[in-house]
Amino acid sequence: MFDRLKRWAIDGSVPEERDVAEPQDGLQRAAQGRDRPVLAVDVDGVISLFGFEQPLTEAPGEVVLVDGVPHCISRAAGERLMRLSDHYDLIWATGWEDRANEHLPLLLGLPGELPYLTFGGNARFGSAHWKLDAIQAYAGERALAWIDDNLDESCHAWAASRAAPTLLVETDPTRGLEEAHVDALIAWAEAGFRPT
Ligand SMILES: [Mg+2]
Repeated sequence: MFDRLKRWAIDGSVPEERDVAEPQDGLQRAAQGRDRPVLAVDVDGVISLFGFEQPLTEAPGEVVLVDGVPHCISRAAGERLMRLSDHYDLIWATGWEDRANEHLPLLLGLPGELPYLTFGGNARFGSAHWKLDAIQAYAGERALAWIDDNLDESCHAWAASRAAPTLLVETDPTRGLEEAHVDALIAWAEAGFRPT
């Protein structure tokens, strides 16, 4: 499965082939195509929670070691991503890059891997603007939603400048992907990408 993913490089060249995992049962049950919107999914602050007050023994998710680093994985995120995959083509938009697929499908109970973006070593913790070029290159003229905990003014300006419908959804990193985010994302898609 893993070797089916084509690395989506942004450093310099226009990709020859869209970075798409083969459709699978469940997560990507609808065929990927330009008529479906893209949902770019951040990991840290969306799937992996941080900044909460509780000790790790009372963490709001499952604490696991990923490459030796403890992460608190939202228990609810997997099921929520599954529901969103009914409406969107999901991609990982995270500094985890390919490592997202090494760990998260199993941890989240997803049936398979997702396409992922790469950032040419430009990932910076605590911001998200370094993702813009890669997200734009992937989404092209397709409608796009992006969920992230670090959206700044440059992200909003970029979203406003896109010709295609674009929705930014910001999370609280202590809580990650919440039910209200899912509702808003699905409502936007079902309303033909108009504000609801
Ligand atoms: Mg983040």
